[in-house]
Amino acid sequence: MVRLLFFVFLLLLLYYILHLLIRDMPSFKKRVKGKHEPEELVQDPYCLTYIPKRSALKEKVEGQVLYFCDEKCRKSYVRREAKNG
Ligand SMILES: [Zn+2]
Repeated sequence: MVRLLFFVFLLLLLYYILHLLIRDMPSFKKRVKGKHEPEELVQDPYCLTYIPKRSALKEKVEGQVLYFCDEKCRKSYVRREAKNG
């Protein structure tokens, strides 16, 4: 009788473990799929600093998209280009 109880307990434990594994599978897949891509760096043409593209200021100058580290660089560059051109 004790042996039977132990067997039932073992089955329940196995079922519980399987249940946990199956439940965790989708999140595991999601984690692998949603892998973070390395941050792309762009160069500020004014101060020549490299900045992450996501946080850079975008500006189209003469049909070319340029990225700046901040508003000051963007304005200075545009002003300089306007003076030169
Ligand atoms: Zn800059």
